[in-house]
Amino acid sequence: MQHIMGKSWHSLEVDKIVELLESDLNDGLGPLSIKHREEQFGKNQLKAKKRDSKLKKFFMQFHNALIYILLSASLITALLHEWIDSGVIFGVVIVNVIIGYVQEVKAEEAINSLKEMMNTPAVVLRDGVKIAVSSVDIVPGDIVLLESGSKVPADLRLIECNDLKVDESMLTGESMSVMKNISLHNQDITINDRKNMAYSGTYVTYGRAKGIVVATSSHTELGKIAHLIEETTSMQTPLTKKISAFSKVLLYIILALATFTFFVGMWHGNSAVETFMASVALAVGAIPEGLPAAVTITLAIGVSRMATKNAIIRKLPAVETLGSVTTICSDKTGTLTQNKMSVTNLYASGVSYSVTGNGYEPRGEFFKDNKKIDSLDDSLKEVLRAGYLCNESYLVKKDTEYSIHGDPTEGSLVVCALKAGFEEHLLNTKFPRVDILPFESDRQYMVTLNRDVENSENILYLKGSIEKTLQICDFEVKDSEIVEINKELILKRVDEYASKGLRVLAIAKKVVSGDKIDNRLLDNKFIFLGLQAMMDPPRQEAIDAVKESIGAGIKIIMITGDHALTAFSIAKMMSIIPKETPFEGSVITGKELFNLTDTELIEKVAYVRVFARVEPEQKLRIVDALQERGEIVAMTGDGVNDAPALKQADIGIAMGMGGTEVAKEAADMILSDDNFSSIAHAVKEGRNVFDNLVKFITWTLPTNLGEGLVILFAIMLGITLPILPVQILWINMSTAILLGLMLVFEPKEANIMQRKPRDPKKPILTKSIIIQMLVVGFYMLIASYFMFNIALKNGHSVEYARTIAVNIFVFVELFYLFSCKELERSVFKTNIFNNKLLLLGVAMMIFVQILYTHTNFMNITFKSEALDILTWSQIIIISVGVLFVVEIKRTIEAKLLNA
Ligand code: ADP
Ligand code: MG
Repeated sequence: MQHIMGKSWHSLEVDKIVELLESDLNDGLGPLSIKHREEQFGKNQLKAKKRDSKLKKFFMQFHNALIYILLSASLITALLHEWIDSGVIFGVVIVNVIIGYVQEVKAEEAINSLKEMMNTPAVVLRDGVKIAVSSVDIVPGDIVLLESGSKVPADLRLIECNDLKVDESMLTGESMSVMKNISLHNQDITINDRKNMAYSGTYVTYGRAKGIVVATSSHTELGKIAHLIEETTSMQTPLTKKISAFSKVLLYIILALATFTFFVGMWHGNSAVETFMASVALAVGAIPEGLPAAVTITLAIGVSRMATKNAIIRKLPAVETLGSVTTICSDKTGTLTQNKMSVTNLYASGVSYSVTGNGYEPRGEFFKDNKKIDSLDDSLKEVLRAGYLCNESYLVKKDTEYSIHGDPTEGSLVVCALKAGFEEHLLNTKFPRVDILPFESDRQYMVTLNRDVENSENILYLKGSIEKTLQICDFEVKDSEIVEINKELILKRVDEYASKGLRVLAIAKKVVSGDKIDNRLLDNKFIFLGLQAMMDPPRQEAIDAVKESIGAGIKIIMITGDHALTAFSIAKMMSIIPKETPFEGSVITGKELFNLTDTELIEKVAYVRVFARVEPEQKLRIVDALQERGEIVAMTGDGVNDAPALKQADIGIAMGMGGTEVAKEAADMILSDDNFSSIAHAVKEGRNVFDNLVKFITWTLPTNLGEGLVILFAIMLGITLPILPVQILWINMSTAILLGLMLVFEPKEANIMQRKPRDPKKPILTKSIIIQMLVVGFYMLIASYFMFNIALKNGHSVEYARTIAVNIFVFVELFYLFSCKELERSVFKTNIFNNKLLLLGVAMMIFVQILYTHTNFMNITFKSEALDILTWSQIIIISVGVLFVVEIKRTIEAKLLNA
């Protein structure tokens, strides 16, 4: 079939195309030819740009200021024949590079694995049945079905078109959607004008269509301009950028200081080598080299934890923003509720009925005035029949389980009709469908045109929201007669249902001539047939999550296309609004929203929690108004028209199951289970990520400060260095890996959802934390200096004294780690055993420190010396002291705050 390449498909007759592609318009391809074509044309996917090779990634790790300093130090010590020092420093470089490499690869893996979860689905016709496949598996000749919200999976020649509009901006730059049709074109027209083609990578914004695949992968128009797709995910977020900027500034300051101390040392008359090594020590000690890596790792861990809780992050910065969300705007149906609809009440010809049943099982009984009825009135039968016919869903039975294929709202109508004993094949042959106008949220109704074979007439059946339906009804059925409609009575019944939280669908019909649904037919003269009201129970886990979120200072706002009273009742059931709230003034409808000015809306969004009968386009105004108030907004959405609001929101959230590709593309995060509680989980994880970052920074910086100061003082005063450069390297490396890294795994604090959201404008490090870091940094300086000098005074060797100083740094860090588990509470009230990894790290740290002090090899490598038991106890006592110092600081602070 190689000869199919590069044909001008837009100028060929469909029959000819089908023949060329050896396909079948009604049945699609069979399994054998699919396999064949896959072998011939490959997978339908653009090849990814070559990523940096592993080797390159590894060597990129050397490109780092600290490494340059270390390498030059290693080189200079080698030239001076200080072989051990040179070797140790070089060893540290290698270890650093390996750790950096592993971290980067792991973090990237965590984020890239999310991509695989975001495969684009497509619906194709194969062997006569509609099935959903991954767009990767599409081959030339496949018959593809498009509907509003789909991403076009390959280049298609359109065969059938139903008001299809396509956003082709990625291909043509044209931002307006293009109306498509199936007319034949001249050969020499540009892509922009080929109305009978739909191109890979573009989006359907309206309508539906059927098309035949004429090109896949790199043969598509998109593939021709973008042979390779960018695949590297940016690992940068506002926070990582801030931190690298901070690290850079710090680096320059420290380098300046190091240079300065070099000259001061020379001026003191020390040897050039010694002063040089001292400056290196200063630089190495004061640069917080582990910081950027720790941030990336923490974010990556956050991403994978969220993924296990059904929240898939599409854009990394979302991980940070989630922690400071102040308002969550959520859809109702399917997100807050279960989307398991069942019709419980019906209304026909002025009479109310109720119906029993269990889930989607098509068995139940009909009641009128609490009395079971055996034969149904004709008027009720017609309501049920209309509900069945004006429908795109069907019931599937697997073993003994029933489920709905399609929209559950419609599915419940199918189930209800079957409960009444309708036989599906009879309905379908007695009233075959001639045309259909599918449901769209914007329109709020759906229409089918059915041929009534027995009476040889064509009937429009319509179902939709009560408002839209009543607008076009002039008549109703009463006692088998068609009479003028009395809307008041009907509306009373609707209110009664809606106030119980039921979703109400109105059903109407109109006899017409002709066999196309023409818009002009839909303006008036419909006959109102009745109502079907369905229950969609709240999700229990969503109720809990709402409660938790409100406790966490987050506002929950429900935005729905449903009836105001239904929305209000469900909001009450879920405690989104308090039980006693009156209906008046607590719900804003789309119509009211339309009449509000922006200023009025900004005022209202402060307290209104339910928006009903909202058109998707209006969500954008709500987001804007909330953001104008300074709120950090998370907003859910699933349809094409939700995309602008999702983009505008601080966190745009698309539904993974029910959402369109357009919505997913616009979102920062995708809920793989469409469940509100997953949003709350993600917020919780987001807060945890931030907490742990702050904890890590609070723990790590004082050491850099302490070490920097120790060296600085020694050089300024012209005395012996209490710690040597290689020893500083030892401290930093071992504590960063065994102690600091474990903070990243800190579990969530118990009260994580009891405090207010973090203000993103507030600096990462509060004044209180900065004071704590200064206190601890100076404690390290004083403790090590003091112990170092006493040891010298008592006649110990310099090596002995330095071993003490090193151990003081390590053990102060070790105990201080526990103070950083919770930054506000007393360490004595903190559960210090809840992070097993951290305890393991502490144990290993103690072990390696014993090796450092008491083994021959380490003594030679790091110029350390064995300590006696008395010295050890002094070190431990002084190190534990840091807990008390921090404690005193916190107590004073609390006192000052309360005063
Ligand atoms: P939501 O998803 O927020 O509940 P929708 O936009 O889906 O809101 O629905 C809005 C209204 O349109 C519903 O209240 C209902 O009256 C009507 N409706 C919903 N689904 C259908 C459907 N499949 N066919 C006809 N009308 C529908
Ligand atoms: Mg809906």
